[in-house]
Amino acid sequence: MTVSRRLAAAMLVVPFVLVSCSDGGDDSASSATPTDAAPCPVAPVDVVVSVDQWGDVVTELGGACTNVTTLLASSSVDPHDYEPSPADAAKFEGARLVVINGGHYDEWAGKLAAGSAPDAPVVDAVRISEGEAGHGDGADEAGQKGHDDDAANPHVWYSPTAVTGVADAVTAELSEIAPDAADYFAERRSAFATSLQPYDDAIAAIKQSASGKTYAATEAVFDEMAAAVGLQNKTPAGYQTASNNESDPSPADLDAFITLLQDKGVDVLIYNTQTEGSVPEQIRAAAESASVPVVEVTETVAPGTDSFEAWQVAQLTSLAEALGVSV
Ligand SMILES: [Zn+2]
Repeated sequence: MTVSRRLAAAMLVVPFVLVSCSDGGDDSASSATPTDAAPCPVAPVDVVVSVDQWGDVVTELGGACTNVTTLLASSSVDPHDYEPSPADAAKFEGARLVVINGGHYDEWAGKLAAGSAPDAPVVDAVRISEGEAGHGDGADEAGQKGHDDDAANPHVWYSPTAVTGVADAVTAELSEIAPDAADYFAERRSAFATSLQPYDDAIAAIKQSASGKTYAATEAVFDEMAAAVGLQNKTPAGYQTASNNESDPSPADLDAFITLLQDKGVDVLIYNTQTEGSVPEQIRAAAESASVPVVEVTETVAPGTDSFEAWQVAQLTSLAEALGVSV
């Protein structure tokens, strides 16, 4: 029932998107992004991005000076389980810059880039979030797919410092590839910073008023942002480990989660709407019956959202409301 209500809501949003596209003629047109982009002084740079969480950011930064191809641009595909096709390998050919999330999240993309666009620099968001250079030869250590319980959380587009770091790295690489457009890219970078202001403000407001409040989450997707706003993660450890390994929690782990909610042991439940199944539904039902507010988040850019910033700000606004913070 939850799922069908959500799908209905998503469908209602679609006509609005179509209207704003025909209006602006440019999908970056919104109140938060600049509409009067300067013309590009060079031939556009071909950029390939693995997943849509970064695709929109790169498009905003590159503007008319880039042709951005995003491989997984649909929210119906789970990047964790994605198996690339030969057609995906072909999409990397001719790329002059590659942007991947990194870690084990989209390992396939790093491999395809190394094979099809070996000379293109690779911006790697996970490496940036770990304070490493974030670009380089793409040589990754061998490892299994998906989440590792001993690996860093790969959902780094939820880390405000990673977003800024990736934006800086993309701008630096583009400026090196097309030096005659360096001023153009610098302008786009500063416009992106301006459009991130509502996001920065929402994070600061929540951090100021709700620091130390607690949450539990059906999945770790939002954990980096929750930490950035000062929330404490009270997700039962057994459940979180199972979830990070993409396995089902044991009945005892699920019971611990449900008991936590029944006891109102957290201030909010963070719920990833892109994961379906009886486990998240039972958790949600327990939160609702205990009147623990449920904050919906998505792994990939939410359908009907016209920019990375709009997507993030909508979620932060829901979180603020659930925590009783005005933003
Ligand atoms: Zn995930």
